[in-house]
Amino acid sequence: MSNAFYTIPEPVNEPVKFYAKGSLERKLLFEAYDEMYKRKIDVPMYINGVTIFTENRKEIRPPHDFKHVVGSYAIANSTHVEKAITTCLEAKLSWEQMPWQDRAAIFLKAAALIAGPYRYKINAATMIGQSKNAYQAEIDSACELIDFFNFNAKFLEEIYSSQPVSSKGIWNRTEYRPLEGFVYAITPFNFTAIAGNLPVAPVLMGNVCVWKPSESQMYSAKIIMDVLIEAGLPSGVINMVSGDPAMISNTVLKHKEFSGLHFTGSTKVFKTLWKQIALNLDQYINYPKIVGETGGKDFVWVHPSANIAQVGTALIRGAFEYQGQKCSAVSRAYIPKLMWNELKSFLNTELKTIKVGSPRESDNYINAVIHEASFDKLVDTIEFVKQSDDASIEFGGEYDKSVGYFVNPTIFVTTNPHFKTMEKELFGPILTIYLYEDADWEQTLTLVDTTSEYALTGAIFAKERAVISKATTLLRHSAGNFYINDKPTGAVVGQQPFGGARGSGTNDKAGSIYNLLRWVSPRTIKENFVPPTNYKYPFLEN
Ligand code: NAD
Repeated sequence: MSNAFYTIPEPVNEPVKFYAKGSLERKLLFEAYDEMYKRKIDVPMYINGVTIFTENRKEIRPPHDFKHVVGSYAIANSTHVEKAITTCLEAKLSWEQMPWQDRAAIFLKAAALIAGPYRYKINAATMIGQSKNAYQAEIDSACELIDFFNFNAKFLEEIYSSQPVSSKGIWNRTEYRPLEGFVYAITPFNFTAIAGNLPVAPVLMGNVCVWKPSESQMYSAKIIMDVLIEAGLPSGVINMVSGDPAMISNTVLKHKEFSGLHFTGSTKVFKTLWKQIALNLDQYINYPKIVGETGGKDFVWVHPSANIAQVGTALIRGAFEYQGQKCSAVSRAYIPKLMWNELKSFLNTELKTIKVGSPRESDNYINAVIHEASFDKLVDTIEFVKQSDDASIEFGGEYDKSVGYFVNPTIFVTTNPHFKTMEKELFGPILTIYLYEDADWEQTLTLVDTTSEYALTGAIFAKERAVISKATTLLRHSAGNFYINDKPTGAVVGQQPFGGARGSGTNDKAGSIYNLLRWVSPRTIKENFVPPTNYKYPFLEN
């Protein structure tokens, strides 16, 4: 027990390294990449602090060079998953009783390890395994993950210090207990930072966790576990299992002590899991907490008063960075007809300079999409548009999977605001533009609001303040992260808490106090210093 009220160091967003030509950081990053590219790694499962190397394994291949094998990862059977759950539950008591400052210190240390000795390793793993260029890996697996750990520790302090008032002779307290049982974290392929944050956020609040990373993020998942172990995380607090998602989830979700799901991924998978939890409800000790951040069909709406170069730049960065595989990526845009010719020529000039290829060559702005299934889906969409009367390919449309899963940045223009690619999430470097009559800008806002099932991110571009004000009001429920004259991607922890509603999730804002509050079950404690000794109230006197 400590005899002091400690405070967590004030978090500051991790400065981004730019990997400019000739810089030491570029040299060190590519040295790490080359060394890791040659080596073969075996990603184990981590159960009770023990690394489990199964015979049943799957290969890890870089999406930009899929004939090359960089290693393999373990495939679980149901016994592994059951062991992961039992182990969690055994580790639970000592973990939740550890003083909070010691718990927090583990993740502050993990942040410092990623900022220092692990930075190039975790970035290189993200580049190799998920095909991110140096900058995209840096803002994700280094900066955002560091920020999640540092800021969440500060939010923990804020939550714990929030206490009720007390009246005379009474002391009221709130204790922020972790949930009973264990939390299950399921993470997507596209952000190493999300993969690290989803198991860690509940664990920071004193919970224990079974973590199932995406099959397409296994290389950097291993580095996350290595960092956490080096930072002093006790055995069994986070147990990482990998393999068949349906089998793992079926085993976890039928356990009576399952108490929370921390999910990020597609809307379809999240809905399946929610239904499965509902069917198992009678078996659980508690009502499980369900937190899910899911798909998006993120928009840019442009008013005739907007600046064309600003709009064009936001479209290119917002739609195509990391091959459009960000849940926040722009995938539909509404452009006034009279602006189109000039904007088109701006886009044309810029897009011609974009190079597509391996993240090992630093001049490639666009790298490969994550796997063959994604590549095939995107190609089918491009071929569908070629045959369509409602839409045409304005830029790009080329693809090649001879070496890696490469799809060039592609823009469709449609005359139908409900065209398939205006409504459906594609998760690739494809943007669809609808041109509207300039005078109809206000009606177009209603169209933006009612077109898709999602409400994750969106941006408006306008100079006129009255327009900005009207659009901000009309689009109140269209996006959980709303941007004015900025691209709708690149949310920064602590600055723009991230998440959306409708089909995009439960909007619990990853990396914020709102999210951490989902992982506690407060206990109210009232203590009466001098309790009454007679039941009779004054009103009873005749
Ligand atoms: P995905 O839904 O295919 O996979 C996500 C996770 O769910 C993976 O770990 C996967 O193995 C697991 N999974 C798949 N099928 C499952 C099943 N039947 N039972 C249990 N688990 C299962 O998503 P993805 O391709 O990894 O990521 C892309 C999706 O994630 C996009 O829809 C994107 O918009 C979304 N996303 C959302 C956010 C956000 O904050 N809103 C952030 C990142 C990604």
